[in-house]
Amino acid sequence: MDAAALDAEVATLVAAARDVDAHYEPIPDLAWPEGVRIAVNFTLDFDAMLLRRLKHEPPMQLAKGEFGGRVGIWRAVELFSRLGVKATIFTVGRICELYPEALRNVLAQGHEIADHMWEHHVPKDPAMEDDHFMKTVAAFKETLGLRALGSRSRHSNRLLVREGYLYNSHGSAAHGPHYLHDGAGNCVLNLPFHYAIDDAMFYSANWQGSELLANRFSDTDRVEEIWWQGFLQQYRVGGYLNVCLHPFVSGRAQRIDMLERLVHRMQAMPGVWMPTSADVARHVLATRPSQRASR
Ligand SMILES: [Zn+2]
Repeated sequence: MDAAALDAEVATLVAAARDVDAHYEPIPDLAWPEGVRIAVNFTLDFDAMLLRRLKHEPPMQLAKGEFGGRVGIWRAVELFSRLGVKATIFTVGRICELYPEALRNVLAQGHEIADHMWEHHVPKDPAMEDDHFMKTVAAFKETLGLRALGSRSRHSNRLLVREGYLYNSHGSAAHGPHYLHDGAGNCVLNLPFHYAIDDAMFYSANWQGSELLANRFSDTDRVEEIWWQGFLQQYRVGGYLNVCLHPFVSGRAQRIDMLERLVHRMQAMPGVWMPTSADVARHVLATRPSQRASR
């Protein structure tokens, strides 16, 4: 690369960083409720491989999604209910058509259902985006009598604010809760997750088109240890941990057992709070609202 091309590349990076400066608002003095040292959100993306269904992937890939809807989600909900963890199930709107009983069970057990797009993608065209967003709102209302409070998506702040959503859970500009402004007066709280604590990264072969040599079928002991170390670091600093799971991935027998061991280890420490994402959002919004005039 010649010097001029390198300069142009650096200028692009600087512009991107300044753009984040303008939209990103950290919450440096966030404190948890009395007696709480760390908030841990267990979040499950219930997408049943929907994006891959739309791409007409091979039957064995699609069968994974089927497992998630028929077995994985039930196992995960049973586990978290039994352990006293309140989980958040980010649900693709069309799941209301595919596995309505699984969703009713999630609610009956006291867990949260939140938005995960209509068909697992956000259309670029604003009118089309609006249409997708509202289809999920309608499906949740009709199937579950539910109004979601959060999303895991790239849906615009404009829609999230307009429809009264409390939070998004997407991207990883920071490790803890922070605010994101859209430059047009809409501010949304973000509860970030990261691929370092995401089951799909560790248990997927050929993940997102990677070479077969880059298979990521990790053994559960290794994953448990990596996530445990992540938990301990955040525990020490009084932080936040968002554990991102997928029913079709972590619903598999040996992985469900690993989660049980991991939750037990966490719960053996004092001051560990495992509420829904909406509960974390309510606490942050009530105690540390955005300090910036929204822009
Ligand atoms: Zn997803």
